[in-house]
Amino acid sequence: MNTVSKIQITTAKLLINGEFVESKTQQWQDIINPATQEVIGLVPFATPEEIQAAISSAQSAFASWRETPIQARMRIMLKLQQLIRDNAKKIAQVLTAEQGKTLADAEGDIQRGLEVVEHACSIGTLQMGEYTEGVARGVDTYTLQQPLGVCAGITPFNFPAMIPLWMFPMAIVCGNTFVLKPSEQDPLSTMMLVELAIEAGIPAGVLNVVHGGKEVVDALCTHQDIKAISFVGSTAVGTHVYNLAGQHGKRVQSMMGAKNHVVVMPDANKEQTLNAMVGAAFGAAGQRCMALSVAVMVGDSKHWINELVTKAKTLSVNAGHEPNTDIGPVISPRAKARVIDLINSGVEQGAELLLDGRDIQVKGYENGNFVGATVFNQVTTDMRIYKEEIFGPVLTILCVETLDEAIELVNANPFGNGVGLFTQSGAVARTFQNRIDIGQVGINIPIPVPVPFFSFTGSRGSKLGDLGPYGKQAVQFYTQTKTITSRWFEDSQEAGEVNTTISLR
Ligand code: NAD
Repeated sequence: MNTVSKIQITTAKLLINGEFVESKTQQWQDIINPATQEVIGLVPFATPEEIQAAISSAQSAFASWRETPIQARMRIMLKLQQLIRDNAKKIAQVLTAEQGKTLADAEGDIQRGLEVVEHACSIGTLQMGEYTEGVARGVDTYTLQQPLGVCAGITPFNFPAMIPLWMFPMAIVCGNTFVLKPSEQDPLSTMMLVELAIEAGIPAGVLNVVHGGKEVVDALCTHQDIKAISFVGSTAVGTHVYNLAGQHGKRVQSMMGAKNHVVVMPDANKEQTLNAMVGAAFGAAGQRCMALSVAVMVGDSKHWINELVTKAKTLSVNAGHEPNTDIGPVISPRAKARVIDLINSGVEQGAELLLDGRDIQVKGYENGNFVGATVFNQVTTDMRIYKEEIFGPVLTILCVETLDEAIELVNANPFGNGVGLFTQSGAVARTFQNRIDIGQVGINIPIPVPVPFFSFTGSRGSKLGDLGPYGKQAVQFYTQTKTITSRWFEDSQEAGEVNTTISLR
């Protein structure tokens, strides 16, 4: 951590009450290009006064924002989606520089977030209530989906565009105000999106940003004016956030770590399956919460393992902005050391290392945090490489004889973010989708992240809270259902008698 030596370098600004302001903190952290270790910016750790100012500004803006007509809110999202589209290439460059992923993947990160903004433009129908006429004589019941107040979002480093866009557009379009706490490792591309949101017309105080780490997060989770917290990140932090915010009476959704499997049936289309597996395991250097981590080869599909390794060997490891890069660096030297430690543990615990990415050298980027594609066979469920989220380009392989064994294996793993099945049999697919206990299933799709008309429905150990990000569940999450039962007497109606029962008469 730096104690203030800010030469002429980009600093991530706070956004408080519509103004982008320089933090007055003494605590700054370098934002580092993971391919070069070059310092490309500084991020402040906001002071308690700045956090309070952001929350107060959101609290005061709520009164008028909740009264702003739904179509006016929607039009801001329409403008925002166009601005993001127009600026996507520029944002992708910054995203690659601070996060490391390839430019094409950075554009994908923005695109998947943009889809949520597009969906937010349908809020007129998404936030509709329900109405039943005549539930008793002269009595109607209807519901309103009303905003909660100030909501907060805490985001991870791996999708600095998509995940902030999962959160603040839906929260705001529903009539809430928002305080965003981006990842301190790569906040610059997130801030470009926030600038566009302000340019699109989000009024002062409706969207605020504070930067920092644990202290800022804990302040948000415990502040009395914050009504709901959306968190995406590691399991350890997500559990802490869920408990802390829950103890302080907040609605919380916490999307956490994963260990995603694919089950490969011998009748699958071999070429398509192997291509899909290689992309899902090693793309984004394995730093996706939906990355493929475990391949379960059923029956004769085990004979494809050598071809899988051959394909993995062809991937080019390089800086994300270099043309034709397949695998960029992992986020930090610490993250790299963690991945290497886990690979070492796999070797020590007796797994067969078919492809070793530990000692990769990238010409011109000798200081980058690179790990090459790594493949382990003969993995067992007691090994660390099977039990822990690696978050690097490492694929572990287990072989079983039947679909039943594969389902049992996947269901016994505590995580539940995503799972894939490769097969050409509809009957097998149907059995699998019915019996597999994982919240998001891909059938011949390796990374089944749903489009935003649906919701992100990771489950079990990968999620705490009932409602997931975006889609209809996000509208539920960011609103309170108010149910109104009303009776209007006709002037001609008799007054009747006292009713001492609970029945509507
Ligand atoms: P992280 O948990 O380290 O950080 C996430 C956020 O929490 C950051 O904003 C960070 O500043 C804050 N934070 C860090 N330490 C904290 C602490 N002790 N107390 C309070 N807040 C703290 O996660 P990360 O490394 O940035 O992201 C990678 C993780 O996120 C992986 O585990 C990945 O699986 C997970 N992830 C999950 C999903 C999902 O939808 N399930 C999506 C993306 C990423």
